Amino acid sequence: MQGLRHDRSMHAYPPPATHGLATRQRVMADAQALGVPADYGRTRQLRPMREPARLTFVGLDTQCRPAWLRPAAAAAFARMRRAAASEDIDLLVVSAWRSFEYQLGIIRQKRERGLDMEAILKASAAPGYSEHHTGRALDIGMHGYPHLEEAFDESPAFAWLQRHAGRFGFELSYPRHNRHGITYEPWHWCWHAGR
Ligand SMILES: [Zn+2]
Repeated sequence: MQGLRHDRSMHAYPPPATHGLATRQRVMADAQALGVPADYGRTRQLRPMREPARLTFVGLDTQCRPAWLRPAAAAAFARMRRAAASEDIDLLVVSAWRSFEYQLGIIRQKRERGLDMEAILKASAAPGYSEHHTGRALDIGMHGYPHLEEAFDESPAFAWLQRHAGRFGFELSYPRHNRHGITYEPWHWCWHAGR
């Protein structure tokens, strides 16, 4: 039954195309033109990320958009979600894979709203450097708690993730006072192969 449902979902949402290094280079140049410092990666201790060759559907996100992860991360997330559900914890997908272009759009919109680049880069990784590009990272939410806000760390979902996510290969990427100077993000979890 579950397999059937999964197949139908795959039919309804063909996987989006992913992009290679030429696109990343162009997007990074565009980001620099918007004000991302040329030495961003070095000073933040962040490495450029790659988009995966393939993406697997992981359900709809909280805005009813199809959400995607790379196949191994998608399988690990499905297992983790089932385990959480068995304890009445419903892990919501707020955001999963994001393309280089999409991340550039986020930065551009914030610039257009008048935010300065330093403030933008505390909350969002520069295009090319976001873990979301890799299809291994996702932002998780829970009903009754604000999405993408620190208060998510008071949710039962966060408590559950802290106890169990490691077992499924997921780690919190940006704890408090992380070395990248990125705001504490209790919602952002990344899957690492072999952990
Ligand atoms: Zn995130």
